[in-house]
Amino acid sequence: MEKMIFGVALSKKRVAPICRPVKGLPSGWVRLDLRRAAFCGCGRETVVYKGFRQPARAGVIAGHQMMGTVRESTVACLAAGQRVAVYPYVGCGHCEVCIARNASLCEVSLTKLGTDVDGGWATGIVVPGNVCVPLSDNTPDDLAALAGCSLSTAYSGLRRVGLKRGDHLLAYNAGSLGLSAIAIAAELGARVTVVEPNFVRQRVAKELGAQDILDEHDPDLEAKIAAVGTTQAFDVAFDPTNDEASRRRCLNALRHGGRLVMAGEWNGPTITDTHTIIAKQLTLIGSWAFSQDEQLAVLR
Ligand SMILES: [Zn+2]
Ligand SMILES: [Zn+2]
Repeated sequence: MEKMIFGVALSKKRVAPICRPVKGLPSGWVRLDLRRAAFCGCGRETVVYKGFRQPARAGVIAGHQMMGTVRESTVACLAAGQRVAVYPYVGCGHCEVCIARNASLCEVSLTKLGTDVDGGWATGIVVPGNVCVPLSDNTPDDLAALAGCSLSTAYSGLRRVGLKRGDHLLAYNAGSLGLSAIAIAAELGARVTVVEPNFVRQRVAKELGAQDILDEHDPDLEAKIAAVGTTQAFDVAFDPTNDEASRRRCLNALRHGGRLVMAGEWNGPTITDTHTIIAKQLTLIGSWAFSQDEQLAVLR
């Protein structure tokens, strides 16, 4: 019997309804009933990944942050009824990074759910079984969906710069990536200072464990960042903005030997001050995606 999946695509900045028939299930694949799907900045109609701008394919159901329940399965370890999160990258399956469970780095054949093929803004989805991450009963649906991008991307960046208990993190905004970084840092036992103009986001940042909140619209912002830095130097900065001024403030705030995580890049070059990077011997990394093991670590 033919089944249907109902979803939405982003078409010319409008939401377009999609009705997709499901005919049979290939070996090694599963069909999920989706329970949560979140919006992400990198899920816009035009996305940037693989290092360059690439438009989402027309007519593709959007959304790459999702979780659901197995409806049908051809995979022995994924029984009907199992709750799962979804890893949104499908690689070639054979190269070094795919074998290391980080298909987001695959340069042979990379497909992203919600961009190249149907994603999670739908009633269901058909995916390879190996992108499904079984969930324990105590993992909330909302957290499981957010681990499909923003939480895991923030975790990957902070893990790779070695953020640890007692470090001081400067989180430059409290959007989905920034709040993810704040929650992870607070969980690790790091001190967190946040720069954020929006009152509601400031309040959420505080609830997640940020100690110091600075208003980005404050005319004395740079002096106030420096003042907080005198009480404890900033070891790590997390900057998910695409803004040159934000990047410069992060570089200036960091202690010598500090580390900057850049995520959410969008509109071209945002760093011109290479002198500060060299003179302070800073480490800069980019975080655009994550491995399956990093997603698993977030879910646990
Ligand atoms: Zn995303
Ligand atoms: Zn590969």
